[in-house]
Amino acid sequence: MIFYHPDCDLKFSEYGIEIPIKDDRALKVFQHLQSHHPKLTFIEIKEIPEITFSDLLLAHNSNYINKLLGSYKELEVEMLSCFELIDSQGHFNRYNPHTAALDFRHALGVILKQVGMTYWAAKLSLSSGFSYFLGGGMHHAMSFGGRGFCLLNDIVIAIRKLQNDKLIQTAWIIDVDAHKGDGSAEITKDDQSIITLSLHMKSGWPLDSGVSSDPWFIPSDIDIEIDSLEEDFYLEKLMIGLNELEKNYQRPDIVIIVNGADPYELDELPSTAKIKLSKEQLFLRDKILYHFFKYRHIPQSYVMAGGYGEKSWEIYSQFLEFVGQDSSKRSEISSR
Ligand SMILES: [Zn+2]
Repeated sequence: MIFYHPDCDLKFSEYGIEIPIKDDRALKVFQHLQSHHPKLTFIEIKEIPEITFSDLLLAHNSNYINKLLGSYKELEVEMLSCFELIDSQGHFNRYNPHTAALDFRHALGVILKQVGMTYWAAKLSLSSGFSYFLGGGMHHAMSFGGRGFCLLNDIVIAIRKLQNDKLIQTAWIIDVDAHKGDGSAEITKDDQSIITLSLHMKSGWPLDSGVSSDPWFIPSDIDIEIDSLEEDFYLEKLMIGLNELEKNYQRPDIVIIVNGADPYELDELPSTAKIKLSKEQLFLRDKILYHFFKYRHIPQSYVMAGGYGEKSWEIYSQFLEFVGQDSSKRSEISSR
């Protein structure tokens, strides 16, 4: 099952934010699948599950959540910091509030809907075996605050909500975004029921600044680093990581794949320049993950995470087209 809902698209330009993520990457993937897979069934999403205050506390501390839900000024401070909209000299960075048509309260509403959809897609993967939400993957959000364009950690909230529902006990988070899944690692560091694996650039953000006691250095259960020019070892290292997970940890009830397209060589975010995987390598990456968990009958649920510029939608699209062809089960795409 593939989930797309236009209300979950965070269109940065509407808030005056000039980060080079394309406003329409999820829509492009959705439209591509629509036009190439006429047999897909479309069902209407009537309501996106609502995320409550106590749901947010599953991953974040109350001090932070109270700021997000408090005065507009408090929310604005958190948003400016999370989306890096002010530079060290105090000037606006990739931000032009004069072009904003909507305010940050609206953006928060969209982000909460994404959290709701990540949860729902994960929940439905328990029965269907596979789900892909065309959104979400806010893996840098820490227990105490947002970071790196990630305000709320939808991944951990979704898993812990499923645990509260008594639908699962254990989960793996496999993070193949170009950047380390530092927020998920920080939030779950004392939680043996959630095992994290992150495969990411060895240097560069978030690991190039600060001291090693900074929370973004908190290790995942398994961290695999890819140095510049090590791209040819990427897939092998992924396989080794998956085998290590299987050897050392209990089989999970669900795996969430943080499926960033930003290791792509044509990605346009400057901080992803230290890893350059080809379209074919990324296709293989996604097929390795898909087959690994399909073969083991472990429900797999994907979120989009990072992917910047004109071309990133193609990475998601090639994989989902393949899943559509491979799946002997009924494939569905959801939309309004
Ligand atoms: Zn990233």
